[in-house]
Amino acid sequence: MMNPTLGTATRDRLRIAIQKSGRLAEPARKLLAACGLSWRESRDKLFCYGETLPVDLLLVRDDDIPGLIADGVCDLGVVGRNELDEQAGARARNGLPQAYRELRGLGFGQCRLMLAVPEDWEWSGPEQLKGRGLRIATSYPAILAQWLQRQGIDAQVVELSGSVEIAPRLGTAELICDLVSSGATLLANQLKPVENLLDSEAVLAGPAHGFDDARAGLAQMLLRRVDGVLQLKDRKLLMFSARRESLPELERLLQDAGPLVQLPGANGSLSLQTMCEGAVSWQQLEDLERAGARELMVLTVERSLA
Ligand code: ATP
Ligand code: ZN
Repeated sequence: MMNPTLGTATRDRLRIAIQKSGRLAEPARKLLAACGLSWRESRDKLFCYGETLPVDLLLVRDDDIPGLIADGVCDLGVVGRNELDEQAGARARNGLPQAYRELRGLGFGQCRLMLAVPEDWEWSGPEQLKGRGLRIATSYPAILAQWLQRQGIDAQVVELSGSVEIAPRLGTAELICDLVSSGATLLANQLKPVENLLDSEAVLAGPAHGFDDARAGLAQMLLRRVDGVLQLKDRKLLMFSARRESLPELERLLQDAGPLVQLPGANGSLSLQTMCEGAVSWQQLEDLERAGARELMVLTVERSLA
């Protein structure tokens, strides 16, 4: 039974589901906090009431997030693409309509869903799996089944909810399909990754159809802020002064940066600034100084609306 206080009726507050604990919990909170949201912690730790804006959090297991969006209990969710695609695939197989969609990739929680085989197998490609009656253990049966079908492979999918990597040693499957980030778990289990089925990261997910009440404006504002925060990652404002005759060489050194803004400075010199993607190294500053730049300053951009 659904909790009546978490019903699906028209609302004037936005409700975002994030992972309660686990890999995506902390980065999701940080991202939303950077978007200007803050919450009053509740004692049951399921629901956090939004203070600065009418945007509340629901802290849940990541597996539940797609379903909560599909049922309209939550409006948005931060969840791995692997989980979202898997549940979308399962819905499609059961003839259910697509109820949610990926709105933004969020740049954290990166991993890959990979097919892995015993270390001592020689790997020549997916064709070698054909016609061998092999079993593949996975927690992602829908994504795996789609891939197998595309490749024309008739392997058997063995669904496991956890500890997939030990299946070959237990004899329940010959190979596995699992999430990999460093590859250390595979290595420890004498397995090697051979085919990439999905590049995954945390994503912001929302309903397939938009909102028709106050949530529409809130979601739009939040998306804009998320875009602003993602864009700022590693952006630096470089400021310096220089004499006009140094400009050609300075422009050459800064050709990968944004437009160079020129303003009149003191004593006939120019005051210059430009936006740089990524870090600005000491070496780059010294090169600019040698080319005539003075009073060099690198500033972190805290907030911007594009
Ligand atoms: P929950 O209790 O919420 O069900 P969980 O154990 O299913 O937690 P985590 O292990 O915290 O979830 O992983 C959450 C997400 O983190 C994954 O769905 C995936 O998108 C991402 N992720 C990044 N790297 C990895 C990895 N090496 N292994 C598993 N998941 C990873
Ligand atoms: Zn989970």
